[in-house]
Amino acid sequence: MKWLLRAVSGCLALTVLPLAAHTSAEQGPEMIGSLIEISLVFLLLALLLLRHYRRRKEKALTEQTQLLSAMIESLPDIVAYKDKEGVYQLFNSHASQFFGLTARERTGRRDEDIFDPVTCKLIRHQDRDARQRRSQTRHEAWLENAEGNKVLLECYRQPMFDAAHTYIGLVFLCRDITQSRQQQENLEYLARHDTLTGLINRNMLHEQLNFALQMTRRNNECIALVFIDLDRFKDINDSLGHNIGDLLLRDVAHRLKSNLRDSDICARIGGDEFVIALSQVEEEHVQEKCDQLLQKIAQPYHLQGHLLTVCASAGIAISPQHGNSAESLMLHADAALNRAKAQGRNCSYVYSEKLTINQHNQLSLEQDLRKAYAGNEFQLVFHPQWRTGNARPERVEALIRWPHKTRGMVSPHEFIPLAETTGMIMELGLWVLRTSCLQFLHWREEGLMLEKIAVNVSAMQINSRFADTVENILRELNFDPHWLELEVTESLMMSGITEVSQQVHKLRELGVEFSIDDFGTGYSSLSKLKSMPVSVLKIDQSFVRNVHKEANDYEIVRAIIAMARSLGLTVVAEGVENQEQEDTLRNLGCEWLQGYLYGNPVSGEDFSREYSADGSEQTNVNRAE
Ligand code: C2E
Ligand code: MG
Ligand code: MG
Repeated sequence: MKWLLRAVSGCLALTVLPLAAHTSAEQGPEMIGSLIEISLVFLLLALLLLRHYRRRKEKALTEQTQLLSAMIESLPDIVAYKDKEGVYQLFNSHASQFFGLTARERTGRRDEDIFDPVTCKLIRHQDRDARQRRSQTRHEAWLENAEGNKVLLECYRQPMFDAAHTYIGLVFLCRDITQSRQQQENLEYLARHDTLTGLINRNMLHEQLNFALQMTRRNNECIALVFIDLDRFKDINDSLGHNIGDLLLRDVAHRLKSNLRDSDICARIGGDEFVIALSQVEEEHVQEKCDQLLQKIAQPYHLQGHLLTVCASAGIAISPQHGNSAESLMLHADAALNRAKAQGRNCSYVYSEKLTINQHNQLSLEQDLRKAYAGNEFQLVFHPQWRTGNARPERVEALIRWPHKTRGMVSPHEFIPLAETTGMIMELGLWVLRTSCLQFLHWREEGLMLEKIAVNVSAMQINSRFADTVENILRELNFDPHWLELEVTESLMMSGITEVSQQVHKLRELGVEFSIDDFGTGYSSLSKLKSMPVSVLKIDQSFVRNVHKEANDYEIVRAIIAMARSLGLTVVAEGVENQEQEDTLRNLGCEWLQGYLYGNPVSGEDFSREYSADGSEQTNVNRAE
């Protein structure tokens, strides 16, 4: 503006002054008229220019204002401006939508007109904070939107000042972060929890356990860490499917949680592994509490029409005596759990230092096992199977033995699982098969004619080459496949794994017979049992042990015999140790018996001495006595 006036007056001066200087007296009045005219023209020009300039400026201002408001509207956030009197002068449409304001209400509102008293108080406090800091502040707040939903807003407040640095108001920029916060919380939850059961996972367990240990140290208390592992859970998964397995895990988690205090920790750290940390507990009551939990787990489950029971084993480590850190307690509780499992499952075991020594032993056992195989130190013993009423055994089971120079006789219960985990079972299993067949042939040459020899086979051994390998050995030894019976576990037979089924069918076609060992301890389904070419069920010795005095065992054995009969299968009762057991089994119609009552497993030589035609009468006489 100023420059325009200056330009016009400058032009006027430049035009008028030279004219005035050269004007004579007589030209005066005429010249004055011309000067006025020129001045008027310039003035008019100036006014026109001024108007034009003003219009342009107004237009630019309008455009700028429109641009700014379009920008504010285009923001996905809530934008508001509140002046220093606490009156809102601006809400963008997101803001008015969020708070349910009409177009008229977009100015002139106060906090009290929009929010409840508690929120107003909070807003006032946060406003004051931003004003005093004279810089941007950030807060989060749960506010109710116009639809009545609670929304988490992230709010930035920017205090505004005029040229004289006097406070004039606050600009608000608020964003809905409900979803992103939920996603973040979900991620955090997933990182710390087991999705199947909702229990905390291994990461969180470490955190919580370390914290609990700190607290107990401060209060001079103890904490008991309990590792719980379901017994034979794999069998359930294999035979009834993973869905049932998952449901079972959920129910177990629920039973554990509902039998613990809120202050106790309960985690799932792997497939069927649960960890519990009991705080404020007296040391002498830990095992009792733990056994109560195992009893709760052992109660029957009704899952999608299946009625199942599952047992669990537990290992216990107590701080401070068994460790002060989460790591050492977990290591020791795990070692105690392994011992509980080795002790026959369904029990708890409290850690002792001896276990750590045992773990070292386990390592050296593995080294010895390799040396023993290389040094051909394994032996086989043979256990007869008798048809009830017969004088001589008709079948025999081969059992591996490991006479160790310093350890004495190592039980297969101890080294077979080790051979399985180390993969050595493949070579060892083939050695057992070949040696058993050779022994059987040797007996035949001696005149000891047996119907069959049964060889135990580990699940691990059944791979895609199993049938071919067995066939090759039989062909090489000229061994009639009908003389061979392979004993496999129930879970393997029921697993439904196509490869297992193919290998079993292939061998069955050759004439090899299959029996299910330790029957009754797994989870067989009748339909699967029918579909597998199994000929023999060997009732597990745990049912035979008390068949003559426990109603439950009696009923189980009776049911197995009835089922086997309906499927046309032979039943062998193993672990028969006394006459009452034999009598009961005979009465139930069990055809085949095996156990210490009829002799211990013996070497091949002793076997032929004992059961060859001359010796058998002797044996039979002894039995009759
Ligand atoms: P299994 O196949 O069920 O063998 C029966 C086990 O019960 C044998 O123990 C046998 O000695 C024992 N036993 C037999 N009659 C009686 C009895 O009247 N009372 C008692 N208390 N026990 C009796 P062993 O030889 O210690 O074998 C244990 C397990 O080790 C076997 O159970 C089998 O699963 C496994 N095993 C043994 N030899 C082999 C093998 O060559 N290969 C594989 N893969 N596993 C084997
Ligand atoms: Mg067996
Ligand atoms: Mg058995």
